[in-house]
Amino acid sequence: MKKHFTAIIVTILLVSGALGVLGSVYASPGRTDANGGHTCRTNCAKYGLKDGEYHYHNADGSITKTPPKTPPKATEPSETKPSAPLKADKLKPPANGKLSVYFLNVGQGDATYIHTANGDDILIDGGKNEAGPIVVDYLKQLGVKDIEVLISTHPDEDHVGGLDTVLQKLVVKSVYAPKVSHTTDTFKDFLLAVKNEGLTIKEAKAGVAIPLKGVTAKFAGPTKAYGDDLNDWSAVLHLAFGKTSFLFTGDAEAKSEADMIAAKATLKADVLKVGHHGSNTSTSAAFLKAVAPKYAVISVGAGNTYGHPKKTILDRLASAKVTTYRTDTKGTVMAVSDGTKLTFGTVK
Ligand SMILES: [Zn+2]
Ligand SMILES: [Zn+2]
Repeated sequence: MKKHFTAIIVTILLVSGALGVLGSVYASPGRTDANGGHTCRTNCAKYGLKDGEYHYHNADGSITKTPPKTPPKATEPSETKPSAPLKADKLKPPANGKLSVYFLNVGQGDATYIHTANGDDILIDGGKNEAGPIVVDYLKQLGVKDIEVLISTHPDEDHVGGLDTVLQKLVVKSVYAPKVSHTTDTFKDFLLAVKNEGLTIKEAKAGVAIPLKGVTAKFAGPTKAYGDDLNDWSAVLHLAFGKTSFLFTGDAEAKSEADMIAAKATLKADVLKVGHHGSNTSTSAAFLKAVAPKYAVISVGAGNTYGHPKKTILDRLASAKVTTYRTDTKGTVMAVSDGTKLTFGTVK
């Protein structure tokens, strides 16, 4: 895998929205338009280009002014081997006056859409890059006009990948993300899309409440900074509607789980979005005990190279008598709450 042409480490102050530094990403491979190429903006002479000259990045790292014979390779590792193209499931529309939660089938990755009884729309993550159009398709199918709250749990590609497409295609009112940055083009695309919407990212961290009517939405994590451990940086959202509650964990792993328990965050929930696609690095016994869910949902792609979900975790959920749904076997999983009772529906 060739290194990026711009070896500039972009440190982005998410909250202050100091996004001007992103100009440097234009000469790097992977950022292409519909024609497969793009315009040079910075350091052009270094690459034998004039400022503003249109060019293509080839798979071998060379730059040409004519399109490459083979499409450029991805510049960052993906969590899955290439699989059959994804297609959006046909979904039932959200129920009026109820809380509807859709654990969207986006293959390997996470994307969760929530429609509140008050009519607000929340999207947590957008799957991989290639899932972006599918997430948009799902949202349009469900009649979503605008998204009041968009949450990027952490900068990994299988969560943030599709969010730039969502930001381009739908009106987004607010964006929450933990204060961690990443050097991949995918993450820069997300930050740029946020900037293009004229938005500033609000920090997602333990204790921050999202102002929404009819529900209580509060971040349980991250409780601290986790350096390079992107998964532990995951924004963890606790959402309560009436007597029912959900915990959306992103890819938070055992370290963050232990810290949330120690911080006495509200974790107890009827429904647990299982951390990190059912990897055995998440859903520690102590965390499962603290959440004490009746239901669990694992968002995971069929045939993923990680072996997610792990048998240890499935066994742990089963022995705690948790009814578990998986997007790889059931397609999109929908949970509806009337404030007292929860009902589940699946596509397959
Ligand atoms: Zn993930
Ligand atoms: Zn991750």
